[in-house]
Amino acid sequence: MNEEQEEVIVKKKVLITRRPPKHVLKMLEDKFDVTVWDSEEEQIPEKFLLENIKNKDGILCLLTENINEDVINNNKRLKVISNLAVGYNNIDITAANKRDIMVTNTPGILTETTADLTFGLMLATSRRLIEASEVVRQGKWKTWSPMFLTGMDVHGATLGIIGLGEIGAAVARRAKGFNMNLLYYNRSKKPELERSLGIKYTEKDQLLKESDYVCILTPLSKETKNLISKRELGLMKSTSILINTSRGGIVNEADLREAILNEDIWGAGLDVFDQEPIPQESPILDLPNVVTLPHIGSASIKTRVNMWEMAAQNLIKALSGNIPPNLVK
Ligand code: NAP
Repeated sequence: MNEEQEEVIVKKKVLITRRPPKHVLKMLEDKFDVTVWDSEEEQIPEKFLLENIKNKDGILCLLTENINEDVINNNKRLKVISNLAVGYNNIDITAANKRDIMVTNTPGILTETTADLTFGLMLATSRRLIEASEVVRQGKWKTWSPMFLTGMDVHGATLGIIGLGEIGAAVARRAKGFNMNLLYYNRSKKPELERSLGIKYTEKDQLLKESDYVCILTPLSKETKNLISKRELGLMKSTSILINTSRGGIVNEADLREAILNEDIWGAGLDVFDQEPIPQESPILDLPNVVTLPHIGSASIKTRVNMWEMAAQNLIKALSGNIPPNLVK
């Protein structure tokens, strides 16, 4: 083959909506013509996303991107949306399905890390760890007092898990080490976990009535939106604590605020919110006994790098004509 006859290999085009680790970027640049929103902390502006998705074969995006019908339909050749998260409520799956666009996620590898954070949030909320640390730093620690900064016990308490999937089961395994009584409510029953963990299936209302800790670990969907609202909070014990490390929108924030102020429940630990970042003026931030975290469930260095690698592999598989390993729909 002479030079003129040489085949021109046109690389497929992909958009990455945040700066990946160098080795992941190289892995993708070796195969594709890559456009990156080259920032670690700043979200890709909507205008940049809409303009740059136009001629792409694939997109690797974060849960911060709203991949709605308009974004999807702004591109006629899109083959795959690879999400750097296990949850994919930020993607309009129906619009993607209509166009036969593959959607992938990063399940499994973040399970244990997110369960660690969930358990840590339970301990931080029940034992008022953040507040206690602030007391020390602000010079407000006067003396050892019998009832100073007292909270709730975790050991021996009843934990009710709503959504006994990968992360829910990993939280239950940790809870066994704290000698907790375990209840769960889930869309489907899990007889094997019931046997291996000694966890008991309970209808949702019963779980809410009996638990000292209620931990939400379902995906956000039409069915789970506002799953925990005024009525459900009203069923909980006045000494109980609600933990949400799944998605904002599952717990109704206005109702939660009322429940805390009325002392219907004792406290809450929240890693996720309706609007993220939560606006500084949100009344949730002024509540007593509420620990708020900036959606860091899977944020260990190792897990986040693993997630990048997995999302990149999903993109590569899909664009080389294979079924990606983590196809959700
Ligand atoms: P998973 O393995 O898919 O587990 C989800 C569980 O929820 C499944 O057992 C499922 O039941 C159950 N479920 C779904 N819809 C339900 C409903 N309407 N009512 C009752 N149960 C329902 O997912 P995972 O890996 O454990 O992750 C769970 C969620 O955590 C993700 O979707 C994501 O939104 C969130 N997450 C947050 C962070 C963070 O940084 N805070 C990190 C990772 C994940 P079936 O078994 O019947 O399907």
